[in-house]
Amino acid sequence: MNTDDLLKRLDTDGIDNLSVVYHDYSGRACAKTIPKERFASVLSHGVVFARANLSFTVDDHQSADASFLAETGDFFAVPDPHSYVRVPYLDATARVHAFMCTEDGADWEGCPRARLKAIVDAYAAQGLSVRVGLEPEFYLLEHIAENEYRPVDRDGMFTLAGLERHYGLWKSVSDDLRDMDIVLEQFGKEYGPAQYEGTPLYNEPIRAVDHFLAFKDVIRARARETGRVVSFMPKPYAHLPGCGLHVHVSLWNEDGSAEITPGASDDQPLSETGGYFAAGLLKHARGLTGVGSPIVNSYKRLLPGSWAPVHVCWAVGNRAALVRVPGLGRRRHLEYRSGDNAANPFLFVTALLGAGLDGITNRLPLPAPVDTDVGHLTADQAAQRGLTFLPTSLPEALNAFETDEVLCETLGTVVATEFLKVKRSELAAYGLMVHPWEREMYLETI
Ligand code: GLU
Ligand code: MG
Repeated sequence: MNTDDLLKRLDTDGIDNLSVVYHDYSGRACAKTIPKERFASVLSHGVVFARANLSFTVDDHQSADASFLAETGDFFAVPDPHSYVRVPYLDATARVHAFMCTEDGADWEGCPRARLKAIVDAYAAQGLSVRVGLEPEFYLLEHIAENEYRPVDRDGMFTLAGLERHYGLWKSVSDDLRDMDIVLEQFGKEYGPAQYEGTPLYNEPIRAVDHFLAFKDVIRARARETGRVVSFMPKPYAHLPGCGLHVHVSLWNEDGSAEITPGASDDQPLSETGGYFAAGLLKHARGLTGVGSPIVNSYKRLLPGSWAPVHVCWAVGNRAALVRVPGLGRRRHLEYRSGDNAANPFLFVTALLGAGLDGITNRLPLPAPVDTDVGHLTADQAAQRGLTFLPTSLPEALNAFETDEVLCETLGTVVATEFLKVKRSELAAYGLMVHPWEREMYLETI
């Protein structure tokens, strides 16, 4: 679809308002809504936003040392016609994702969506294409008092009861996604009380991220209508399972007609190229954690024995491994399990693909897979097996990202620099807080 096609489509769909959306470095959807009289102009020139918007944390504080200040000008959010969807739960309204452009219409280096496009092009230059599936977990909560929420049910994992209890909600989500031409592969009740998981069908990377973001938007909006709150926070409660964002990746030939991740037989789970790709993921795993698990709360999820990974390793059919080949036969793609929904998915997928491409370009050797539940190894047993660890805190992960030249180059200097500033500002604010746990522990005991 080009700009003219989109103008016609907006007319046929009876759209009065179009939201032009970009995602900041914390993954927040930011937008302006354009009334129909302005569609033609906005589709060709974009919508103006201050670059300074990209130097703010999720609580709207400008990061310390921000690069983008009052005098650093604007970017233009230029709609990508392919991302157009009518928003089913809003009247006469559509939304479109944008590329951030400079005034002359060129892609701006600071744009997460353009970084993803660039790495996809880098695969194409090697005669390869990629398919990605994003599998988010989340809680359905009710608001009970200021800043207090609780899970809305206690149904067991993968129970039909859990699905049927909120059937109206899930049906409206599934109907909306169908209206938006998004195929939902599956939807289920996860392990925690009122924890659920849904997977839009795998797709080419930009489309996969768009569909994942639509899934989040739809489920939030429909839950809100029923008075519920949806939380994608990595670890909303210390005693309940965390919410991961598993990323499924497969490699294909350039036109997407033949998959090349699997090896020749089940004895050889991955092809040579698939193995190099997996080796790249392992090599850059520590730096990837900075991008894929980018808030302090992420590190309360990455705990041994939680099915969220802590070691740098891969395996077939093993949910404790960081990189999992889900199974043999038709299931021999790669699943990367450490990330969570606090990541900007454009940046996270870009970084993952950059890591994999480094593996392919440099023909990195893949170590042997692990063959046990590494989540239950003692530190000594892990060391005996030569296993290294993912970062255990945000400062460690951000440092690992900063020193990973391949990842920083893949995201580009503008994004890498500003992302680190925003995240470190958030970290500094957290460091100054006195948490309820500290008063409980120390107020009377010291
Ligand atoms: N909830 C787990 C996590 O935080 C994953 C459980 C699963 O394997 O689906 O990663
Ligand atoms: Mg799950």
